[in-house]
This record gives sequence, structure tokens and C-alpha cells, in this order.
Amino acid sequence: MSADTLVSPFLLARATVTAVERVSPSFVRVTLGGPEITDLGTPGAVLDQRIKLIFPSPGAPLPSLAGTADWYQEWLALPENTRGSMRTYSIRELTVDAAGTTLTIDFVLHLDPTSTGPASLWASAAAPGQEILVLGPRRGRTDGGGIEYYPGDASSILLAGDETAAPAIARILEDSPASTRGAAFIEVPEAGDILPIAAPAGVEITWLPRDGKAHGEALIPAVLEHLGSQPVDSAPEVLPEGELLWETPTFSGLGEETSSGDVHADRYFWIAGESGVVTTLRRHLVKGLGIDRGQVAFMGYWRKGVAMRG
Ligand SMILES: Cc1cc2nc3c(=O)[nH]c(=O)nc-3n(C[C@H](O)[C@H](O)[C@H](O)COP(=O)(O)OP(=O)(O)OC[C@H]3O[C@@H](n4cnc5c(N)ncnc54)[C@H](O)[C@@H]3O)c2cc1C
Repeated sequence: MSADTLVSPFLLARATVTAVERVSPSFVRVTLGGPEITDLGTPGAVLDQRIKLIFPSPGAPLPSLAGTADWYQEWLALPENTRGSMRTYSIRELTVDAAGTTLTIDFVLHLDPTSTGPASLWASAAAPGQEILVLGPRRGRTDGGGIEYYPGDASSILLAGDETAAPAIARILEDSPASTRGAAFIEVPEAGDILPIAAPAGVEITWLPRDGKAHGEALIPAVLEHLGSQPVDSAPEVLPEGELLWETPTFSGLGEETSSGDVHADRYFWIAGESGVVTTLRRHLVKGLGIDRGQVAFMGYWRKGVAMRG
């Protein structure tokens, strides 16, 4: 075992907000920096790397954690009213230069009083100088997991998601080889939320403004039409109580048989967003169109009416 692998693949770091930009009606872009995130992440190979953010409880300081391998148990052992809230996010941008490491996150603002939460509220009021905790991969380390995008040698890709998946889709496309071919479908609340993505020329991006319709009402028919399937019965499925849908070629939250992870199909699918919408797409793709689930990552990023726990 090399000395390197003895160090945790994760970095738990205090990050300082250095800039906040309201880039569109529904997205606020928060840039984070500071000496503790110097060794965070690997620019150019970020893809859909997920990270955890810990936001302070209202009126309380950020919790102090030693950052050991047991950090999660350590965090859970803190009093509930002062340990803050943990949520999962994607990296929109990671840059390293002489000034240090800069991490950019695009937060969706969902501020309706009946469906908002600590992360969205924090982002809506974020200001330079504030601090949050970030848990992410140490630079150069891939053994901690958190990247699901794995097209193998597929000749084309299909990416589909809602606004919460838009930052990951953008990062995947910007980190992909220039020769990548395929399509991306991104459903956003309104046309003003269409943001620039420096995608390979061979990937066509279709933005789908929802304009007050239900989640998935624009995305589901667009993806099915693209695949040559009739967009019938495309109302989002109601999921039973329980965890988010998380089905990738190598992991099944439903306990189904998984594949070896070697994807040798013509097309690789990556689908993320509201869990009921992703479940509906899964039903159409796997059961309706007979697409091998070894070709698809289906990921519920959030669930309507359910607050996340991390
Ligand atoms: C791997 C991964 C990557 C993700 N990347 C991003 C990202 O880059 N940017 C991003 O904004 N989100 C991202 N998300 C989704 C984000 O973690 C959830 O939206 C999370 O619920 C937000 O936490 P909260 O504290 O604001 O709301 P919570 O306290 O978790 O939920 C409170 C209420 O808000 C509702 N709600 C949650 N999210 C939304 C939403 N987007 N629209 C409408 N209602 C909502 C819930 O249904 C619930 O009723 C990602 C999730 C995963 C798993």
C-alpha cells in the first residue's frame, strides 16, 4: 500500500465564500476559496463528482469536525440544533491557479415557503466572507467514489436532467473529450435559466423551460421522442415511501442485479433529477424500450415533498 492511500481520499474543509452571482432567476452561483480547500478535487476530471456541504444552523457557528475517517459519526454525535444541515451538491467549476483553489457551485433557489430547505435558504442569502464545510475528494484521488458518469467505450451519450442536474451535466460536457457525440436534455424552471455550457460540438443541448408545468412534463416527452418512443403515460410516478431512486450499472438501490461496470453499448445514458421523474423515465427506458440497465445511471437527486438528510 503506498503512503498516499493511507491518507483519507476525502478532504473535510472550511471554505469561505469569495463571490456570489445571481446568474439567472433560479440559480445563484457561489464561489468558494480559502487555504483549507487547496487540495480539493482534480480539475479536468470532475465530471459529476458529488460533494457534501454542511451549512450552519441559524444563529450558530459552523460545527468543528476533526475530519477523520469517522467524520460522519462525529457530525451525527453533535447536538442536532447546532450541527447544521448537510446536503449533496455538484461542482460546477474547479480551478487551481497561483491564488489557490476555487470551487464554484450553482445552487437552485427553491424558495416557496412550502418547499424550501436550509441549503436553498443559505444560498439565497450567501455573501462574501461566510463559511461552510465542504467534504470532497482529495486531489488526484479517485478511490473515494462520488463520480457516477462512466460512458466506457459507448459511441454516444444521452444526458437528461432537471435544474439540480444542470451543473453536473455542464461539468460532464466541459470535461469530456472534444470528440464526444450525443445529446443533452435539461429541464429548467424558465427560459431565463438557460446558461452557457462549453460542450463538445457533437453534443446537441436541448433546454426545456418548464414555465409553470409540473416537474418532468417537459423532460419526459422530449427524451422519449428523441428515442423514437411515443410519449404516452408520461405523468411522473408516485414513489413509495423510502430512499431516493439510485440505480447505476454498478449499484442498485432497488437490490437488482448489477453489471460488471464495463459499458460496451452503443449509447450510454445518464439521467438525474427529481426522483419520481427519474423513476418514470427508468420505467420507459428499461421496461418500455428494453434498454439494458447496464447502460444507464438513474439518479434521484431530490424528492418532491421530502427534505434530504445529507
Ligand atoms: C449527487 C447530487 C448532486 C446534486 N447537485 C446539485 C446542484 O449542483 N445544485 C442544486 O441546486 N442541487 C443539487 N442537488 C440537489 C440538492 O441536494 C437538493 O435539491 C436538496 O434537497 C436541497 O436541499 P435544501 O436544504 O434546499 O432542501 P431540503 O431540506 O432537502 O428539502 C426541503 C423541501 O424542498 C424541496 N426541494 C428540494 N430541492 C428542490 C428543488 N430543486 N426544487 C423544488 N423543491 C425542492 C423538497 O422536496 C422538500 O419539500 C444534488 C443532489 C445530489 C444527490
